[in-house]
Amino acid sequence: MKAAVLYGKEELNIVSDFEDPVMKKTDVLIQSKFGGLCSTDRSLYRGFVPFKPPLIIGHEIAGVVKDVGSSVSGVDIGDHVIIPPVYPGCEDETCNSCREGLTNRCKKSVFIGHGVHGGDAEFIAVPSRYTFKINEDVPLDEACIIPDAVSTPFHALKSRSVPAHIFQHSSDTHKLFEHDSHWLRGKNVVVFGVGGVGGPAVNLAARYFQAKNVVAVDVFDKKLELAKKLGATHTVNSKAFFEEKGITTRELTGREKAEAISDLSKHITSHLSEDKYQVDVVVDCSGVSDTFPVAVEAASKNRTIIQVGWPPKPVSQFLNRKIMDKYLTITGTWACPMNEMKEIVIAVENKEVDLNLLVTNKDYTLDKLENAIHDLEAGKILGRATIAIV
Ligand SMILES: [Zn+2]
Ligand SMILES: [Zn+2]
Repeated sequence: MKAAVLYGKEELNIVSDFEDPVMKKTDVLIQSKFGGLCSTDRSLYRGFVPFKPPLIIGHEIAGVVKDVGSSVSGVDIGDHVIIPPVYPGCEDETCNSCREGLTNRCKKSVFIGHGVHGGDAEFIAVPSRYTFKINEDVPLDEACIIPDAVSTPFHALKSRSVPAHIFQHSSDTHKLFEHDSHWLRGKNVVVFGVGGVGGPAVNLAARYFQAKNVVAVDVFDKKLELAKKLGATHTVNSKAFFEEKGITTRELTGREKAEAISDLSKHITSHLSEDKYQVDVVVDCSGVSDTFPVAVEAASKNRTIIQVGWPPKPVSQFLNRKIMDKYLTITGTWACPMNEMKEIVIAVENKEVDLNLLVTNKDYTLDKLENAIHDLEAGKILGRATIAIV
């Protein structure tokens, strides 16, 4: 079959004779139609993360079912489906994480396009229980961004935004997480970094979770313009903010750096003056270490910061006191549990997610995958790019 195969660092070949996947009786065989391009693909390509070659990349896949295993029910040939990038690999979801409902943190997590072959190929075989059907009126070249770009911030906002004390003192804890009565409704959210994952975070916070205000922070005006279309009520260009003040943040240390952080944070929260500068949730999708201190400064007392983007290095220690003094809940997040994938599919089918705005580049084919990775790297892709596979 045709496949995009990494044979080593920066050795990405499109081959036509890769072995077809072997299907187990509980699997479905999916013909990949479209794949979302993720910065993880770029990290693999550049050799920033280890992998075992040869590896078919691609973990944001939408396709059509071509065949089903002998013990599969509920999925039929011809169904349109999406596949989560990370699904459980333990026996019957019995590991500690799976038993606690965190199927996204399974001890034997399967990460397609990284730990095992991915979907940037004609075919991929996946357990039927981790294959999610989607209505045919959702275009597959948009549906393919659901598995990672949409589901990761969805899980972060849905399940990781509620501060522990709110949960503790709630008489009906379930309601805090249900769509119609979710804790985020009417709250103020700040999203740092509005690219491939931050864009969906803005859109979901504003439209699906019905936050009152969503402040988008980035260093590119074009991304901020897109964020406005996605539902951001306010935007802040942090780079322009410092440039106007003649500050080069990279050169700052100690008190000066702390002041610059505080100034930026005040500027961000100034947009929320009507609400007494209240910031209920900060979502850090920036993947930049320097964002975290600003997030800590911007978050209101007793509220939450969610780390969604992977920061390249740790942050400095002075934050400990501030986190303590502000009684902050700092939460990490990772992919999306299987039960929440179903809710996202319903949200998309009900047109509560603006996939058409989130996918900004649809012109790439599998043969041009390497070009797409270079364009992503060069900042030429505003939102998410999708790749036509077959
Ligand atoms: Zn991804
Ligand atoms: Zn497990």
